[in-house]
Amino acid sequence: DKFKDGLTKTRDSFTSKVNDLVAKYRKVDEEFFEELEEILISADVGVETVMKLIEELEMEVKRRNIQDTEEVKEVISEKLVEIYYGDDEESVEALNLQKDGLSVILIVGVNGVGKTTTIGKLAHQFKQDGQSVVLAAGDTFRAGAINQLDVWGERAGVDVIKHSEGSDPAAVIYDGIQAAKSRGADVLLCDTAGRLQNKVNLMKELTKVRKVIEREIPEAPHETLLVLDATTGQNALSQAKTFKEATDVSGIVLTKLDGTARGGIVLAIRNEMNIPVKYVGLGEQITDLQPFNAHQFVYGLFG
Ligand code: GDP
Repeated sequence: DKFKDGLTKTRDSFTSKVNDLVAKYRKVDEEFFEELEEILISADVGVETVMKLIEELEMEVKRRNIQDTEEVKEVISEKLVEIYYGDDEESVEALNLQKDGLSVILIVGVNGVGKTTTIGKLAHQFKQDGQSVVLAAGDTFRAGAINQLDVWGERAGVDVIKHSEGSDPAAVIYDGIQAAKSRGADVLLCDTAGRLQNKVNLMKELTKVRKVIEREIPEAPHETLLVLDATTGQNALSQAKTFKEATDVSGIVLTKLDGTARGGIVLAIRNEMNIPVKYVGLGEQITDLQPFNAHQFVYGLFG
């Protein structure tokens, strides 16, 4: 399945290290946990999350009186899933979409992370689900962004609302809403500019875009998805912090998970940012986007 294929690099690295560790120690002791800690950190799980995980593992191992390291492997999977979801499995995954009427999804993120590709993939998925989709080319800043979105619009077979380069993004989004409404569309996906160099500008632009959306549809945007590149590791975490300060982020799309051996970043983002990962990108093709599911993810690593 898609998850397993997309996680090949992480699985090859992480799982083989865990297997080696289990073979090396056989009996559970301090050193076993110390080495496990290093493996988890090298997979980008994030220090805070690793500490929490190790602590819970140690408790569970004591509680169940587990001595054999092979058995600990199973507990690791269980705890990874538990740590991801916290107490609330249901609300963590689903997109907040309208049953009737237009859902507006704002897509934010730095250039190069895979924002345009993700919008194309999402448009394709919604269409496959029988929804009608409109795209708004709100990245009017980066040269070529509008054309690139156009290409993805064509691939997915959906309309793209656009103005010329350098024009006001809020005006494009406004037109996108009007077009989506008049066509009776189900979903409007709004691209935005991704320059991080100037946080004040980023914040101003996103605030203005949100205002336009809220004025037209008070409860919108229904989702603000931040696109992050998994191959950038801890840098992705720091981007998440910046965007969280600049605007309300309701979910993460983590791209290029297929391109990294350090897929543990999924857990770090969920845990340290407290933002759920709603989708993961597992390749460059239009179908290479999967709703994130921690059970499938962990199974993809160990199964
Ligand atoms: P943007 O600047 O954020 O809009 O980024 P693009 O959508 O243009 O993507 C940048 C590059 O990343 C392109 O070469 C994409 O094919 C590639 N890309 C995007 N998502 C994925 C993914 O999930 N996996 C892989 N391997 N590549 C991806």
